[in-house]
Amino acid sequence: MFIDSHCHLNFPGLAEDLDVIFANMRTNEVTHALCVSVELASFPQVLDLAERHDNLYASVGVHPDYVLDAEPTQAELVRLAQHPKVIAIGETGLDYFRLTGDLEWQRERFRTHIRAARECGKPLIIHTRSAAQDTLRIMAEEDAGKIGGVMHCFTENLEVARAAIELGFYISFSGILTFKNATSIKEVAQNIPLDKILIETDSPYLAPTPHRGQTNQPAYVKHVAEEIAKLRNITLEEVGNATSQNFRRLFLNIQ
Ligand SMILES: [Zn+2]
Ligand SMILES: [Zn+2]
Repeated sequence: MFIDSHCHLNFPGLAEDLDVIFANMRTNEVTHALCVSVELASFPQVLDLAERHDNLYASVGVHPDYVLDAEPTQAELVRLAQHPKVIAIGETGLDYFRLTGDLEWQRERFRTHIRAARECGKPLIIHTRSAAQDTLRIMAEEDAGKIGGVMHCFTENLEVARAAIELGFYISFSGILTFKNATSIKEVAQNIPLDKILIETDSPYLAPTPHRGQTNQPAYVKHVAEEIAKLRNITLEEVGNATSQNFRRLFLNIQ
C-alpha cells in the first residue's frame, strides 16, 4: 500500500538491522523501497540490497555534499545504470547550505547527472537545499524535463513546487512534513495535484513525528502518508494508492 521512494538502507544504523526493518515494513504495509546512492564507492552495497530483495530498488549517483578527488563521468553513470534494478539517477542536485565557497563543481556534477539520465532514459532524484533558483535554472537549461524525476525531501515553497511540476517533476515529502512548524511545506502538500506526490523517509535521517529524533526506517513512511491524508482531508488508503501508483508510473513505466 505504501512505497518509500527514498531511503539509505546501506547506512550504519540500518544495514545491521535489516530483518527488523523488513518486518516493520510488512506490519505497516510498506511494500517497496528505493535505496538511493550518494557516492559511487558505496554503490555496490546499494545494488547488492536491490539484487537480494525483490521489493528493493537502487539508484546510482553522487550527492552534492560529497567532495571528491575524481568527479563521476556521464559514461560511468550511464554504464552503472544499465542494471535492471537501477531505476533512477541520483541523488544529485545542489546544496548551498552544507557547503559554501565556489560551488561551480557542484553545478557541473549536477549537469553531468542530468545528461546521464537523459542518455540512459532513467528519471532523476534531485536534492536541493538553499539553492532552489539555481536548481530550477540548471534543470531548464539541461532539458531535465525530457526525462523527469522527483524533487526529493521537498522543503521549498509552493511557487518552487509548481515550477518543478511544470518542468515534468514529482514532489516527494519526507518526515519534515509532520513537524508542527513546517507550515509552508504543509501548504505545498495541500495544493499540488495528488498525481504529482511521492512519499519518502530519507532514512536513517528525519524520522517523522511521533518518532522524531530516533533512527528513521521505511516503515515510518506511513506517518508521512497520514499527514497528507489529514492535510487534504482524504483517506489514508487514497494517499497510499495514489503515491504508489505515481511511483510505478515515474520509475517503472507502469501506467
Ligand atoms: Zn537528499
Ligand atoms: Zn537521501
